[in-house]
Amino acid sequence: MRGRVELYAKGIVAFGLLLASWLTLVLGDPGLWLGLLSLGGLIAGTPLTAFCVMHDANHGAYFRARRLNHLMGWTADALLGLSSYAWRVKHNVAHHTYTNVDGYDADITQVPFARLMPVQAPRPWYRLQHYYIWALYCVMALRWQTVGDVAAFVRGRIGTSALRLPRRWDLAGLIGGKVIFVGWAIVVPMFVYPWWAVLGVYLAYSMVVSLIVAVTFQLAHCVEEADFASAEQLAIEPRLWAVHEVETTVDFCPRNPIISWMVGGLNYQIEHHLFPRVPHTHYAQIAKIVQRNAELHGVRYVAQRSLWGALRSHFRHLRTMGRLGVPIAVEMG
Ligand SMILES: [Zn+2]
Repeated sequence: MRGRVELYAKGIVAFGLLLASWLTLVLGDPGLWLGLLSLGGLIAGTPLTAFCVMHDANHGAYFRARRLNHLMGWTADALLGLSSYAWRVKHNVAHHTYTNVDGYDADITQVPFARLMPVQAPRPWYRLQHYYIWALYCVMALRWQTVGDVAAFVRGRIGTSALRLPRRWDLAGLIGGKVIFVGWAIVVPMFVYPWWAVLGVYLAYSMVVSLIVAVTFQLAHCVEEADFASAEQLAIEPRLWAVHEVETTVDFCPRNPIISWMVGGLNYQIEHHLFPRVPHTHYAQIAKIVQRNAELHGVRYVAQRSLWGALRSHFRHLRTMGRLGVPIAVEMG
């Protein structure tokens, strides 16, 4: 019960922050300093909504009823500009079922822009990926808001997971969500500010939010301590799905209450991957049980203590992957 109350309280904070910031920025004639503060509020409120409301709701963890979860998950469309319908396939199916499996998990398959795991073929430009990848993270949200969703629907799949064209309510949600998003983010502000200022501020806002969201997700799976696999490797050495999830995932800052509050349980990704339909406000308690059982059964369980340590591990992993030679599986053809 306490977990649910905390979950809904966080939703109110996230929505309240977004609404107050937007109203001040667009209708409040705020001047420079209050304007910057409001923009900061908008930047803070967006990942908060993504991590603490949208992510839980699209997993079916926010409410007990499926329809209410879909409605709350629609915050992805209306507030973040991403299709929640496509997100559920990309994240719930492709990423959660095939975590860190090359070609199946779209999050970890970013070729030819970056090489995130050993089984992917090397390219000369990957040697610099630990420097340029941050720029890619900055434009990731913009890509999904503009061409990413459309391209996935045209392809009809994400990774190897089928993505059917939405129908009826799903289609209405997709189109309505895009209209509302473009409305509050671009069109309405243009009635108040010059178009170039709106586009400039929007780009800056989108890039900062994108960087925060992308890095937060990457710290759990794209680090030195995480395991990676190809479908061929898993066919030769089958393993229990739960063991695979624990060993391809890393927790970070589990004892930091501020980070735990802000990232909506995404620092407890091991627990999230084992129990995605449980609200994230319960993960701290579940983590103790999972860790104890992992130790008992000899399953590797890694929790990075600090945010800095997790960031360094991500950076070093990118550098190592960029420098690594041809993987044996590729060499043998
Ligand atoms: Zn998830």
